[in-house]
Amino acid sequence: MVKVPTKLVSWEEIVEWAIGLGKKIEASGWHPDMIVAVARGGYVPARLLCDYLGVTDLLSVQSQHWVEAARAAQKAIIRNAFSIDARGLRVLVIDDIVDTGETLALAKEFIGKAWGPEEVRTAALQWISPVAKFKPDYYYIEVKDWTWFQYPWTRLEDLMQFMERIFKEDERARAGLSDEELRSLFREWYGVGPEDFGSYWQLAIERLVGEGKVDFRDGKYYPSRGLLRG
Ligand code: AMP
Repeated sequence: MVKVPTKLVSWEEIVEWAIGLGKKIEASGWHPDMIVAVARGGYVPARLLCDYLGVTDLLSVQSQHWVEAARAAQKAIIRNAFSIDARGLRVLVIDDIVDTGETLALAKEFIGKAWGPEEVRTAALQWISPVAKFKPDYYYIEVKDWTWFQYPWTRLEDLMQFMERIFKEDERARAGLSDEELRSLFREWYGVGPEDFGSYWQLAIERLVGEGKVDFRDGKYYPSRGLLRG
């Protein structure tokens, strides 16, 4: 059975979803004066929404909750906080996905208190309704079964963390894995194939070897001692 249900999202889907989200915002009759991207997941959706809605002012707030792919930190925090005067402005805050909802809820609260806008509304491409404590004002897709959405802007980061987890936690990796064995374990863990990652696959494994997390000997990959200890 797959341990972490994962779906690879393509750039084409992102564009389609962003346009779909834009249409919903437009249909509500509300128009933002300013868009704020939640760093880092909201960057691309926010830029696409600026294009669709014709918004020039694009800022960013760094609200961070998930420190590792598919593993949440305890609490969301605002990093590198700064303040602007947003009095009289309608602000739309955007993230890629609302999972627990902590990230977007905190970003909204921060902007509302620190920037003093007329109104803050929230949007996300996806909303995981059964687990989220927070419902964005606008979303394009309602997700009913929890899935890790592997967005195109975190291919390398997610892939490295996904591989690292196999080397750390799967007993079978201790005896060494050929590239083929690693590929098949990966499919077993995540339900997606290495072929979907294109050239990122090789890049990720090379980086893990370079960082000393994985050792490569006689055609096999092993978890390093440091990785197993850490
Ligand atoms: P949360 O605070 O739980 O709503 O998490 C929101 C942030 O974590 C988003 O900006 C995403 O970048 C990331 N994230 C959380 N859950 C997922 C998921 N299921 N798939 C992809 N990214 C996620």
